[in-house]
Order: sequence, then structure tokens, then C-alpha cells
Amino acid sequence: MATSYKDLGLVNTREMFAKAVKGGYAIPAFNFNTLEQMQAIVMAAVETKSPVIMQVSKGARNYANGTILRNLAKGAVEYAKELGSTNPQIVLHLDHGDTFELCKDCIDNGFSSVMIDGSSLPYEDNIALTRKVVEYAHKFDVTVEAELGVLAGVEDEVSAAESHYTKPEEVVDFATRTGCDSLAISIGTSHGAHKFTPEQCTLVNGVLVPPPLAFDVLHEIEKQLPGFPIVLHGSSSVPQDEVKTINQFGGKLEAAIGIPEEQLREASKSAVCKINIDSDSRLAMTAAIRKYMAENPSHFDPRQYLKPARENMKKMYIHKIVNVLGSNDKL
Ligand SMILES: [Zn+2]
Repeated sequence: MATSYKDLGLVNTREMFAKAVKGGYAIPAFNFNTLEQMQAIVMAAVETKSPVIMQVSKGARNYANGTILRNLAKGAVEYAKELGSTNPQIVLHLDHGDTFELCKDCIDNGFSSVMIDGSSLPYEDNIALTRKVVEYAHKFDVTVEAELGVLAGVEDEVSAAESHYTKPEEVVDFATRTGCDSLAISIGTSHGAHKFTPEQCTLVNGVLVPPPLAFDVLHEIEKQLPGFPIVLHGSSSVPQDEVKTINQFGGKLEAAIGIPEEQLREASKSAVCKINIDSDSRLAMTAAIRKYMAENPSHFDPRQYLKPARENMKKMYIHKIVNVLGSNDKL
């Protein structure tokens, strides 16, 4: 039997994106695989009064089981209310759906939003696949994110060696013919915690600064599709203090480099209304766990090290919401 997201208390992205584009801010899209990530996301969203997108990749479904994740999302809505939110705006979104069948399965099982990523397909095939998902999703008032252009990097089962910027001359045709609700574009962000090689960066005051995002491409896309919701994937900033903590306590992360937060702040003020952040949560969790374990070698209760991990993720989520995306106080 199918489960509608509406029965779980979730919402789709339509209204929150319209408000975000108008208001010049972006909605955080945080990936989750575990209970602690879910709790941290909900606590951060409730404390900051922010709408939030909780997203699940194919890899997350394989790891945690789709039924469990859906029930975690249902629990997230109830937990938000318990924490005092009278009107939680929580989306359960499929990140990087790669087939119609996967998207359909999510739509039938409580997701309020899905991404169909046909960006690796030839243009016409991307349109046909996206159109098919949109036709099915809209019957159930589920919103659909599509992608044009290719991001470099590796994220779960999605990987590409090099990026290809979205071509602004294609976006009107693509959005019109597919009927998608939002569009993920490629303007220089990238998946994973190693977004750039040191050779691609410039050394400024001892810090490696990556090449800037292609704001000219973004602005051209905005001109072609005024007011249309744009999505940025691969937008972790890879906080260097977390990388340092990981390496200090036995880790070995070399040259992990992300997108500078000032650039994401600037993008949030444009038609970019959804920013995907995954690696930063992984780094925050790992850094806290490594530190705790190194400092408390005799402890073995997972709650002891997962609690500081959850706290550290919550702090990171709040920072992103308030200082980078500006989605606080927007409920
Ligand atoms: Zn992505």
C-alpha cells in the first residue's frame, strides 16, 4: 500500500522555494543516513526556525533501509513538534535518483520530493526521463528536481572526472519540456571532500583558496528563467578546523578543500534556493568521534561518542542556516 508524504506531515518544496527565491535566501538540504544526523538536523531547524530538506541518496537507502529512513522522517516531524515547532516545514527528498523506478518507489513511499538525475545522459534522453518522472510525481503533488550540466567529484554512487558547466541556452527548453520544479546546475561546485586539487587553488595567507564559482553562468541562467528555483549540489565548505581535528586524532585527510562560504552566501541571495551539504556533516561527525575516542580510550558505549558527534553536527547545521544560507526565521 502506498504512503503519501502528506500523511507523514511532510511538505513538498514548491512553496518554500517560491518564498526563498523571493526572499533572497536558500533552503538547506542536508543528507542523512543515521538517527544522530536526523536528530541534529531537526534540532538545528527548530532552534533557528528554518525550513529544511532532509535528503536521502541511493547509498543512504542501501545503508539504512528505505522503510527505516521514511519512518525517521516521520519521526522528524513529530520530534520537531515536540521541540516546540508549531509548523515544521520538513521535506523528505531523494538525492540523485537515477531511474524512473527508484523515483516511483520513493514517491509511493512517503517522499515529498525527488531528484531525477539524467545529467549523464544525452540531452534528449535527459528530457524524456525527467518528463516521465515529473508526470508521475505531479499526480501525487510531489516536486521534482532535475539536473543539467555535470559536477565533478564523487558522492556515494555518483561520480564524474570533470565538470561541464550548465549551458544557459538550454535551460528554458529543458525546464519547459520537462515541467521540472527546480533545476540543479553546474557552475563549479563539486561532490565530496576533495573538491579541488591544491594545484587548482591559490595560496592566500597560508590558506588554499579554490577558483571562484561561475557566477556569470548563474546570472545568465537567472536571466533566462526568471524566478525559477535553482539548486547547487556539492556545496560543502570542508571546514579546515574539522579536517585538522580529524588529522590530529589519527585521521589522514589530505588536501580536503571545499567551497568558500562567502560564495555560497552570495549564491543564496540569487535564484539559488536549495544548497546541498553532505560532506560537512560527515566531517563534523568524524572529527568529534575521533577526538572523543582518542581522549577516552576506555569508553565503549556508543552513546558516549555519538552525543558529542551529534552536538558538533548540530552546531555546524545552525552555522550554515544562520550565517551562510539565511533561512533562519523563515517558517
Ligand atoms: Zn549531488
